[in-house]
Amino acid sequence: MDCDVVVVGGGLVGLAQARALAPSGLAVTLIDSASPPPEPSPLPSLAPEEESVGGWDARVYAISPGNAALLSELGVWPSLDFSRVASVERMEVYGDDGASRIVFSAYEAGRAELAFIVEGRQLQRALESALAGQAGLDWRRPALPADLVWASDRVVLSLEGGEAIEARLVIGADGADSWVRRQADIGVSEKSYRQRAVVANFRCERPHRNTAFQWFRDDGVLALLPLPGNHVSLVWSTWDEHAAELACLGPEALAGRVEQACRGALGQLAQVTPPLAFPLRLVKVKALVAPRVALVGDAAHVIHPLAGQGVNLGFQDVRLLAGVLRERGPVADCGDYFLLRRYERARREDVALMQLATDGLARLFSARTCGVGWLRNAGLRLTNAIAPVKTLLVQHALKDGCPTVP
Ligand SMILES: Cc1cc2nc3c(=O)[nH]c(=O)nc-3n(C[C@H](O)[C@H](O)[C@H](O)COP(=O)(O)OP(=O)(O)OC[C@H]3O[C@@H](n4cnc5c(N)ncnc54)[C@H](O)[C@@H]3O)c2cc1C
Repeated sequence: MDCDVVVVGGGLVGLAQARALAPSGLAVTLIDSASPPPEPSPLPSLAPEEESVGGWDARVYAISPGNAALLSELGVWPSLDFSRVASVERMEVYGDDGASRIVFSAYEAGRAELAFIVEGRQLQRALESALAGQAGLDWRRPALPADLVWASDRVVLSLEGGEAIEARLVIGADGADSWVRRQADIGVSEKSYRQRAVVANFRCERPHRNTAFQWFRDDGVLALLPLPGNHVSLVWSTWDEHAAELACLGPEALAGRVEQACRGALGQLAQVTPPLAFPLRLVKVKALVAPRVALVGDAAHVIHPLAGQGVNLGFQDVRLLAGVLRERGPVADCGDYFLLRRYERARREDVALMQLATDGLARLFSARTCGVGWLRNAGLRLTNAIAPVKTLLVQHALKDGCPTVP
């Protein structure tokens, strides 16, 4: 046997998975098709009040306090440069009538923050440096898997170029179009939202006061997430044609459109990163495990980003799978199917609930049926008024991700 576990995919979830396996003493091979970044130059540190900042990453993630704690255990969180991280202390979510809203406050929940906003590049680098000296880790990149063959007590993964790696278990962390998932013949049901998320960062005239804003509008869902130095990150999930139009606008025109759409909540905006657009879809897998295979992250579930939960769900997969493998007791074989089923049972409900909630919201707020608009705005006002419901939502959010409006 060349190793115990092969992790395929070195995105945020695959890296975290390889790191989380360290205490189990298992020998891990990590494979990623992408090359390491050419020059890992340090990111400039930012003074919080800094006015104009270069080098921002337009990909940012809302990370829950629960997952920040997990990343701390993995030795990743403390190595972040916190001058580039913002905390979310309040969330304001608006309906499409401009008046209905729901407010979540960390203060009311007795917590310091609801989430942290972190640049993707920074998180990726922190995970990579935590892995750099990990004992028992064999890291191959760029490397492309070509074939996967099952034997009774092992799998053999062949790489392009001919090398074969024998292992007890393969973890598919290779994203939404997972190669591992296809090899294991795990079926999926997939639906395109016919929407794209347009992301870009802006400097704002008025202080955001560590508030994450979200507007459910006729043309989609627009979120402004706080970043340090009075910057915000836009995530505007909108119909394909509208997204294409927004992504082609010049910096001033796009800033103007966002200002207008959020009713000038943060005053004048100035764009600091070019816009990027990501197609949105829902992917549900028929199983999270197969013989000698487990799926984590987007390989296991893809959801609409309106609640900022995708990578949070992935980190929880990592935590649960690493726990099951670490505490396998007398079961020596880490690819044992009954062991993997334990992981699947532990994750199924959480994943299904999040898919239901995000898909339901995406559909509710894109429905144009008469009366639905009134109903969703009334739902926001009602939930805002019922303290126990809000508390429940916030408690769930603190564990896994940002609050999801009901
Ligand atoms: C606009 C937008 C905003 C979002 N915001 C948030 C947020 O605020 N909070 C949140 O929790 N989530 C958010 N998400 C979701 C989040 O981006 C994803 O859930 C997360 O990136 C999934 O990470 P992953 O590592 O599973 O997959 P990926 O990031 O897709 O990584 C897959 C990795 O596998 C590698 N790979 C692929 N195929 C192969 C192969 N055949 N062999 C080897 N390697 C392979 C790739 O190179 C890549 O490194 C957002 C998503 C979008 C679109």
